[in-house]
Amino acid sequence: MKVAICGYPPFALQVQAGLQNSNIEFKFFIRDFISARDENNFVTNLPQVTFFEFRRLIDAGELDGVIIVEDEKQFFVKNAVQIFKFYGIPNVGVINVESFNPLNPVFGLDTDKIFIPYLETNLIDGCNLNCKGCTHFAELFSREEIYPLETFRRDVRRLSQLCDIYCFRLLGGEPLLLDNLNDYLKIANFYLPNAWLKLVTNGLLIPSLPQKILDAIRENNFVVDISNYPPTMRIADKIKNVLDSNEIKFNFGSNFGDKFGVFLTLHGSNNPAQSRAVCFNDHCRFLRDGKIYKCPLDALSYRLAEKFGLKNYPKATGVDLYAPNFSSTFQMLDGDVELCHWCGEQVRFIPWEPSNKPRLEDWLSDPEEIKKLQ
Ligand code: SF4
Ligand code: SF4
Repeated sequence: MKVAICGYPPFALQVQAGLQNSNIEFKFFIRDFISARDENNFVTNLPQVTFFEFRRLIDAGELDGVIIVEDEKQFFVKNAVQIFKFYGIPNVGVINVESFNPLNPVFGLDTDKIFIPYLETNLIDGCNLNCKGCTHFAELFSREEIYPLETFRRDVRRLSQLCDIYCFRLLGGEPLLLDNLNDYLKIANFYLPNAWLKLVTNGLLIPSLPQKILDAIRENNFVVDISNYPPTMRIADKIKNVLDSNEIKFNFGSNFGDKFGVFLTLHGSNNPAQSRAVCFNDHCRFLRDGKIYKCPLDALSYRLAEKFGLKNYPKATGVDLYAPNFSSTFQMLDGDVELCHWCGEQVRFIPWEPSNKPRLEDWLSDPEEIKKLQ
């Protein structure tokens, strides 16, 4: 199969070597679809074509399709997929460089399915760290509040029927608190074998993880994303030793470990375009109990409203995976939801600290509103 490639050129060169024994032949790089990281984004050993020329080669039968080679730039991938689908390009595939497997190298997208570049879900809502201002409100949930395994299986199976998912992250709360985490990992990999699967943790339990969980992380191709909070970084060497010795891929978060951004307000008169521009969650779709939400705050902040008796707090906008109109309503999550009007136009940063006594102001961005509460 002769394909053009796009994405980040150094990654393309990296996977090209791993495809030498496959039937895939990289012919051209599409110059209009280079994802920017630095100024040295040029391709060294592949001829380049414009998107216009690429389409001509597809129409002439000289190319069979296109492969996007990327890692964390989910929104570059989303835009590229949308454009390729719009122009009816056949055989659109994705290679994620971090989870690249020469035995199953390309995630071939199904043009009839919805493409979701990024999706996450809480396996458990409670946490062992309880950071002040947690965007998943873990302090307000208990460790007994868990995504039931059979509901998770049903929802992930349904997702696999309707959607192609580029990156699926399982988190919480703290997912390593689950004794049967291995079962969740197995289900995710079974139904979404081509997704870039990630497990997000504060890492504190890694040094004492049972072997069956470590084996399940590796065997089900999960990459572990470790949040770099101060207590985690104090045991970073131990964490690294355990994961290295079990041949598990992992990353430590690279920033914001010592501070949190909080951005809710108690009124719905913010400009949602501005709120979405500063909140870090605009593209962060969230699965919970059969529905997909725009972001974790929309799915989970009902608990804040319950806990602090917030009257008239906006209702979440969940799109039901089982509704017959799922495919036509899902795209509305790309726009505003009601909560976007309640998120502040500016983020307030607070120093990271644990808290066992949650206060409403821990989640608020507007200093004037905080003063009124005191
Ligand atoms: S580690 Fe902190 S930020 Fe992460 S889920 Fe737990 S409480 Fe929230
Ligand atoms: S509700 Fe809208 S503005 Fe608020 S965090 Fe989610 S995407 Fe951002």
